[in-house]
Amino acid sequence: ESISDLLDRLSKIVPDYPQPGISFKDLTPVFADPVGLRRMVDELIAPFEGQFDIVAGLEARGFVLAAAAAYASGKGMLTIRKAGKLPREVYRDEYTLEYGTSCLEVHKDEIAPGTRVLILDDVLATGGTVGSSVRLIEKTGAVVAGVGVVLELDGLDGRGKLEGHRVHSLQVVH
Ligand code: IMP
Repeated sequence: ESISDLLDRLSKIVPDYPQPGISFKDLTPVFADPVGLRRMVDELIAPFEGQFDIVAGLEARGFVLAAAAAYASGKGMLTIRKAGKLPREVYRDEYTLEYGTSCLEVHKDEIAPGTRVLILDDVLATGGTVGSSVRLIEKTGAVVAGVGVVLELDGLDGRGKLEGHRVHSLQVVH
């Protein structure tokens, strides 16, 4: 079974969530499936093998993927959180979402300059969230090794916001 067929079989489409007109792709059933979780994580990290030192997870669904990917590849995980959740000194970045605005933070001293960071998240939509985490990582002096997402929503130009970075998606959804 291809990863694309597996994602089609296990994920669920929720119409009008979280707002009317938005078709939400729910990946929680893929996380819940033992083969689904393993395939997603393995295929997210495969193209970047040997090219990263740490895996960054974006709150909250990105945490699931990043923690598993970090563990599987023998690396640590960088925690990128929503505003006000990290207890020590942070860099902060505000950005616009597909629905609303948000703010991400990272601890200032968590990674050394030059560290190669692989960013993982579940969905790339407008690219606001991943774009924000790219800026945060660069503020620390670390380097973005690449971006891995399970689903890339076509037509929102998320990739356009990430120019100059390698973006690997497991499935493009129209
Ligand atoms: P972006 O910032 O517009 O690229 O939106 C990506 C963020 O919104 C990710 O962190 C996703 O978790 C979330 N998101 C946007 N659309 C969907 C969807 O259809 N399903 C699941 N998550 C979504």
